[in-house]
Amino acid sequence: MTRTVYIYNTLSRRKEEFVPVHPGMVGLYVCGPTVYGEPHLGHARPAVTYDVLVRFFRYLGYKVRYVRNITDVGHLEHDADEGDDKIAKKARLESLEPMEVVQTYTIAYHDAMRRLNTLPPSIEPRASGHIIEQIELIKRILDAGFAYVSNGSVYFDVPAYNRKYHYGVLSGRDIDDMMANTRSLDGTGDKRSPYDFALWKKASPQHIMKWPSPWSEGFPGWHLECSAMSEKYLGEEFDIHGGGMDLQFPHHECELAQNTASRGQGGVKYWMHNNLLTVNGQKMGKSLGNFTTLADLYKVYSPMTIRFFILQAHYRGTLDFSNDALSAAEKGLKRVLQAVRDFRNLPHAPGSRNEEICGLPEKVVEALCDDLNTPIAMAHVFDAVRVVNQVKDGSLKLSDADYEALSEIFLKLVPDVLGLVDEVSASSEEKTVEGLMDMILEVRREAKARKDFATSDSIRDRLKDLGVTIKDTKDGTEWSL
Ligand code: ZN
Repeated sequence: MTRTVYIYNTLSRRKEEFVPVHPGMVGLYVCGPTVYGEPHLGHARPAVTYDVLVRFFRYLGYKVRYVRNITDVGHLEHDADEGDDKIAKKARLESLEPMEVVQTYTIAYHDAMRRLNTLPPSIEPRASGHIIEQIELIKRILDAGFAYVSNGSVYFDVPAYNRKYHYGVLSGRDIDDMMANTRSLDGTGDKRSPYDFALWKKASPQHIMKWPSPWSEGFPGWHLECSAMSEKYLGEEFDIHGGGMDLQFPHHECELAQNTASRGQGGVKYWMHNNLLTVNGQKMGKSLGNFTTLADLYKVYSPMTIRFFILQAHYRGTLDFSNDALSAAEKGLKRVLQAVRDFRNLPHAPGSRNEEICGLPEKVVEALCDDLNTPIAMAHVFDAVRVVNQVKDGSLKLSDADYEALSEIFLKLVPDVLGLVDEVSASSEEKTVEGLMDMILEVRREAKARKDFATSDSIRDRLKDLGVTIKDTKDGTEWSL
C-alpha cells in the first residue's frame, strides 16, 4: 500500500493520485447489466476493466468492497423516462414473469463473466430489492426542493438544481447552452422542463412491475437505483464509481445530481469510464447487425482470448473487434501461457542479479499504477516471455534472484492481477462432483476386479436414478449428467 496509484477522474478531467476515503480500503461501485437479454460483447469490456482494477488494489494490499448492481426494473427502452420497461417487454414477448426473465439472464451473465475469469462482486444488489431505499431517497430530494410531484410521478427539477449546483459537471455540459439550443422550453407530458428526469413513474394499468408509494402505484426511475444502493453499501462518500462511457450522460450525471440534491455532496471521489467497443470500426449496436453474444463468440474464441484482447488496449481508448485482432490476441495469449508453463522448469543457480530482469515486475506494477495502463503492463510481460524463451534455448542463464523476479510475474501478476490463466477453473461444486465421481467409479472398478458384479451393477443403477449415465470404454469409464 506504499504505492501511489493514479486514476483518471472524469469529474476533474485529469489523472489524480488515489487517496481512499478510508485508509487501506477501496469502495467501488460499478453499474451492472440490465438483465433482459443474452450477455454480449459490450458487457465484457467494463467487466474485465473493473476486474483488473479490483485485483490490482487487492494485490497492493487494499481491502476492496466491490458493488455491482443488477438492473431488474425501471430501465425503460428510451433510456430514462419513456417507453416500455425493457424487462417487462421481454417478459410479455416470451410469456414469462418479469422475474423469470431477470433470473434467466442473470444466470447467463454470471456464467459469461465467470468464463472471462472476472471475480464476482462483493455485493450484487438488485434494483427491485431496494424499492424502500429508493422511495426514501425521493422523499429526501423532494424535501430539499429539487423535485416535484406531477400526476402521480415524481421528477427531478433540473433547472432548480442547476441554480444551486452545476448540472452537467460530469459530462461537461452546460444546461444554459442546452436550453438555448432547444426549440421547446416546455416539458413534455408531466415534466416542467425537457431536462427533468423521472425519480418515480406512475404505472399504467397494464404495467406489471409496480409498487405502492406515497405518490402512486409505480416504479423508480432508472438513475435512482445506483444512488440509493451505492449509498447503502458504500456510504455517503465512497472512492470510485465506474461504468462505460455511454453511461456518463445522462445516467451518471443524474446520479451525481441525485446524490448532491439529497446529501449536499456528489458522494464519489473518482468517476471512471471505460471507452466503448467498436466492431470492424462501427459502434456496436443491434441495428448494425454486429451485436455479438458472448455465447456465440466463445464458440470461436476462448473467453481468455477475449480477456487478453481487452487488456491489450488502455481502458480509456477505443477498442475495435475484428477477426484479425482476435486471431492476433489468440497467438499472444498462447505465448504468454506457454511461458507460464515453461517458467516452472527453468534452470537457475546462485549468481549475480540481472538488473533488467529483476526490474520487470516493478515495471508491470508501475504501469498499472498509472491509470491501469494494461497495454504497457502487457508489453513488460512480453519482455519476461522473451527472457523465458532465451533461457529455454540456452542463450541466457538465470540467477536465483532473476528467477524470483520472474516468478512474481508468472505466478502472481499474470494469473492473479491480469487474470490470465490456462482455463477458468470449475466452480467448487463442480470440483466436488468430479472428485466424488472419481471415488465412486474407483469403488466400482475394484468391485468388478473382484467379480462382485452385484455391487458394480448396483452402483451403475443408483447413479442412473440420480441422472448420471456411465459408459464403460476400453480407456476406462466415462460419465455424464
Ligand atoms: Zn448505474
